[in-house]
Amino acid sequence: MQEQLFSLEHEPIDKRRARERIEELRALIRKYDYAYYVEAQPLISDRDYDRLYAELVALEQQYPDLVTPDSPTQRVGGQPLDEFAHVQHRRPMLSLANTYTRQEVLDFDRRVRQSLGDEPYEYCAELKFDGVAISLHYSDGRFVLGATRGDGLVGDDITQNLRTIRSLPLVVNPVRVGDTLLMDFEVRGEAYMLRQDFERLNKERLAAGEKPFANPRNLTAGTLKLLDPREVARRPLQLVCYYLDTDQVSLDRQSTNLKLLRQLGFPTSPYWQRCATIEDVFAYIDHWEQKRHSLPFDIDGIVVKVDRLDQQERLGTVARSPRWAIAYKYEAEQARTRLVGITLQVGRTGVVTPVAELEPVFLAGSTISRATLHNAAFVEQLDLRIGDMVYVEKGGEVIPKVVGVDLSARSPDAEPWRMPAHCPCPQQSRLHHPPGEVNYYCESPLCPWQRRRRIEHFASRRAMDIAGLGEKVVAELVEAGFLESVADIYDLHTRADELRRRPGWGDKRVQNLLDAIEASKKQPFHRVLFALGIRHVGEETAKILAAHFGTYDALCRASEEKLQTIPEIGPRIAESIRNFCEDRQQQAVVRRLQKAGLQFAQQTAKQHAPLAGKTFVFTGELDSMPRSRAQELVESLGARASSSVSKATTYVVVGRDPGSKYAKAQQLGIPILDEAAFVELLRQHGIRL
Ligand code: NAD
Repeated sequence: MQEQLFSLEHEPIDKRRARERIEELRALIRKYDYAYYVEAQPLISDRDYDRLYAELVALEQQYPDLVTPDSPTQRVGGQPLDEFAHVQHRRPMLSLANTYTRQEVLDFDRRVRQSLGDEPYEYCAELKFDGVAISLHYSDGRFVLGATRGDGLVGDDITQNLRTIRSLPLVVNPVRVGDTLLMDFEVRGEAYMLRQDFERLNKERLAAGEKPFANPRNLTAGTLKLLDPREVARRPLQLVCYYLDTDQVSLDRQSTNLKLLRQLGFPTSPYWQRCATIEDVFAYIDHWEQKRHSLPFDIDGIVVKVDRLDQQERLGTVARSPRWAIAYKYEAEQARTRLVGITLQVGRTGVVTPVAELEPVFLAGSTISRATLHNAAFVEQLDLRIGDMVYVEKGGEVIPKVVGVDLSARSPDAEPWRMPAHCPCPQQSRLHHPPGEVNYYCESPLCPWQRRRRIEHFASRRAMDIAGLGEKVVAELVEAGFLESVADIYDLHTRADELRRRPGWGDKRVQNLLDAIEASKKQPFHRVLFALGIRHVGEETAKILAAHFGTYDALCRASEEKLQTIPEIGPRIAESIRNFCEDRQQQAVVRRLQKAGLQFAQQTAKQHAPLAGKTFVFTGELDSMPRSRAQELVESLGARASSSVSKATTYVVVGRDPGSKYAKAQQLGIPILDEAAFVELLRQHGIRL
């Protein structure tokens, strides 16, 4: 993941460079937000994400005129999903300003003191549960609506899923504030999962050949988005509440609200503490830094809130977070252990990556013995040598990474490591190192390791999402000769009897797998495109290509130059797509997949497409776009672009110097659109040029 490179310093940079870096950071953060909030599958660790985010904040502070309303610093990260009804929040559900340094906590305290004009204040310090924020509405004392935070203003209605949480009170206890019985209010809190439940569920997923979740938070987020509440009920979610808001009475303190919530029957954390001074806050932070692993759930830090609600009100909010609270986050845990070897791993596109083989060590809840080293350049940069003592960390992924080396513990005869010249696969082909790239590739089409990875990738959750076809199962089926290419997956039904006879494969298991394979045929085109494993075409690029070209055939017709007219597509990606499309073997695989009925066109777009069933013919030159682009655009709206006029033609679009098709259209009485009318038609369907 090359783009993840951090700028090394936060030194002032000139405006032109700042503008570029800001754009770069925003694009990265948007991508990571999507993976984290929408897909519940983070691509990088929180620490790395927070670093990028802090860099963006610093640059925007240096050049305030470069701040735009759509910057990730101006809005809360998630977004509501189309699958659920949307709920407008009564008050925005904000994010929290966060920091990893004590100095910034002190700065926060100073700002609070100054803003309150030296009036006395106290803090309420709470654990920062690493879960998913939710909002619960009660009317007449009954639970009536539950929602996610979404983009902070509008969330998803997940009432049915939340009802499955046992500790969520459907009816509250009678509690009076003054003379008023609290009946109508909003409560906010965090849905989360206990570490032991998370580990059990992940084990089940692994056994079923599915991709495990990275951490309890992501499993919780994924669970709340399930469309089937029965499945949600199978996953034991917990709830902790920390916010109360009502129009019935005026409330006075955060700490009082926590007590009221408990009396009402809500689960609250027993670990909060009122802190009279910032020193008390630091004592609380230190205490939990030590103790956090003895908790049965994950916390990622501490939340410090000004306790009095009237003072909170006066302090107000900035952009996406309140001024009266700050989150102090704990650094990811590190472990120190010995590097006993470096092995090579072959990926689906033939990328060969070094992997650290470690002396087993316990890290954040599990024992690890391998860690990623990214690429050869990374190993060289750290100057890692076999026998070194190294530091490892768990990131957003389940796979830990090596983050540093303890040079003081190095043995004097330790030798620098060099990338081997050959692939460790049985073919032992020479590794190829394209100029300007950090990666080395095994180019052998016969490499069985690549084959396995390609099939694993194809079936993975974010690609075709075939449950029951995870790493272990793929390895078994490749080994036993069932799968050579991804196309063989769709022929497995013809070998069902053979499968059933294998040890451990009963009728039910085979049927489940075949059902999952059948269901995968409905996956949308962009997933198929991603699943094909074209080098450099990740999920985002696949989406862009699918939206732009509409069909696989149109994509393969595009030249490298044409591909590069799309802003996100550079020469590397364009070349890789061309190579893929021209590769005979790949062509054969794609043909088989097409025959099997996978989606090689933007199906859903077409079904809802306003121009479905219509046929366009173009003649003459258009000023606003080349003809090929015009054809793609009408195809993306569900229409067909044809080269000859017939009675079946719906419109003939006539540009400058039209050919004989124009006369033919007039002869047959086919409606004719000039360029302006055509552009207007596109505009009506949401396409702006
Ligand atoms: P946040 O996690 O920094 O803080 C706000 C959230 O804290 C609230 O919405 C609430 O859900 C939670 N919370 C837990 N206990 C609480 C308590 N006692 N009181 C109040 N709130 C409490 O903010 P966020 O906007 O949810 O997420 C931003 C963070 O998410 C980033 O700082 C980053 O660490 C992580 N993130 C990571 C990635 C990635 O790719 N790894 C991507 C996006 C965001």
